[in-house]
Amino acid sequence: MLDLIDSHCHLDFDAFDSDRNSVIERARSKGINQFVIPGVRHSNWGLIRAICNSNTQVHACYGLHPYLAGEHTDDDILQLSHWLDNNDCVAIGECGLDYRKDQADQALQLKFFNAQLEIAHVTGKPVVIHSVRATEDVIHLIKNYPDLRGMVHSYSGSYEQAMQLIDLGFYISYGGAITYDNARKLRATASDIPLGSILLETDAPDQPDADHFNQRNEPAYLVNVLKCLSELRDEPLEQIARQTTKNAQELFGI
Ligand SMILES: [Zn+2]
Repeated sequence: MLDLIDSHCHLDFDAFDSDRNSVIERARSKGINQFVIPGVRHSNWGLIRAICNSNTQVHACYGLHPYLAGEHTDDDILQLSHWLDNNDCVAIGECGLDYRKDQADQALQLKFFNAQLEIAHVTGKPVVIHSVRATEDVIHLIKNYPDLRGMVHSYSGSYEQAMQLIDLGFYISYGGAITYDNARKLRATASDIPLGSILLETDAPDQPDADHFNQRNEPAYLVNVLKCLSELRDEPLEQIARQTTKNAQELFGI
């Protein structure tokens, strides 16, 4: 039986309101035994805490997502520090930068990202980073904090950038995107970087694998990401399962 960790899934999102417990059970029946929920906005932290309190195998992160930079306030940053004083978590995030055209103002994104890097530095917690078309800037900014560790979720940068991130103490996390045949650069990078630096995630309910295109994604489908990585790397499924679980345990202290 597999023993996997979904290193990044948004179990707090509305998409799971009607069947959250069955989603977790379905994943467990496939050998996905632990789950890490990244926080995206202040108003969701309470729900994440409640989910984690009722499921010891679900782990919380608290943070402010770059998608929502237009919604966050300076007070949210203060509240995040207070929240971390009073609540357990395994990481800070999901924070980061998204430079696609339809995204929030970059200056605002940078402000919230830097503030959360500072909090991660002060608390000694790892950081969960979202980076789209922004990996150069992400690398530049995390270099300000040499002790910082973390993961770049749903990695989409180059091989060279991945190796720089690994040198800086970061893990590279892959989800459903690698299962698409046309994702050539992504798949080549996933097959070439060291297994000791790879995490598996679904990013559920978003980013479904090719078999579930256009459907709601859920942690049970993590097995498809594992199978795909095993084929791409030509390494046994069990070996990848064992090492990626060990990586997640090491990063999050779970
Ligand atoms: Zn996410």
